[in-house]
Amino acid sequence: MKTILIISLCWTLVQGDDSGCLSQGGTCQEDSLHCSGHYVSGLCTGSATRRCCLPGGTGSAGTGACPNINIVHRSAWGAAAPTSVSALHVPVSLVFIHHTETPACHDPTSCKARVKNIQQYHMSTNGWADIGYSFLVAEDGTIYEGRGWDRVGAHTEGYNSRGIAFSFIGSYSSSKPPAAALTAVKNMIQCGIVHGKVASGYHLYGHRDVNPTSCPGDALYHEIQTWPHYSHTKP
Ligand SMILES: [Zn+2]
Repeated sequence: MKTILIISLCWTLVQGDDSGCLSQGGTCQEDSLHCSGHYVSGLCTGSATRRCCLPGGTGSAGTGACPNINIVHRSAWGAAAPTSVSALHVPVSLVFIHHTETPACHDPTSCKARVKNIQQYHMSTNGWADIGYSFLVAEDGTIYEGRGWDRVGAHTEGYNSRGIAFSFIGSYSSSKPPAAALTAVKNMIQCGIVHGKVASGYHLYGHRDVNPTSCPGDALYHEIQTWPHYSHTKP
């Protein structure tokens, strides 16, 4: 009985935080073993030689190589071309969470229209070069590519060149987004780490932590404070 308890405790400790690897469709294993894809460090617990074997090549690309995440690219939602582009220095160490403070959307047709609408507002009314956020997420967990991983956004005043932003499409003051949307953003952050866009020791913040705003809404703000890497210390 004692042995079983110890084994299961060890199993829990070893398996406890392999979620970064698992969520990418990878397997944690000793890196002396054959991996048909490529190994990535920092996503598996245990010894330093226990690493994440991810399917596919080195995955150097932008948003396409995030297994288990449904990403609608700019061309697919009908994005207007940006009026200017600045390259973001990656990996970034700051991740910001926003909400769009618009009605939520629940299906591809209405979400594409919503994202287009947000881009028009950001460009025409705010005078920005493009939609402000790096990525947006719908309630069904679909990710919409905004500026993407590699371009400086317009989302978090004073921190745009040091961070990326995920914005939940909807208003989340009184209720938080559905699990599908929350999980999608967590998976995207892990994907960003895998592809060298987000530092593995990143700090997570709500928009209100650094700018005078209620964003991302009370309910969502309370939710993200339970996430790993949420930081109570200002960047
Ligand atoms: Zn915001």
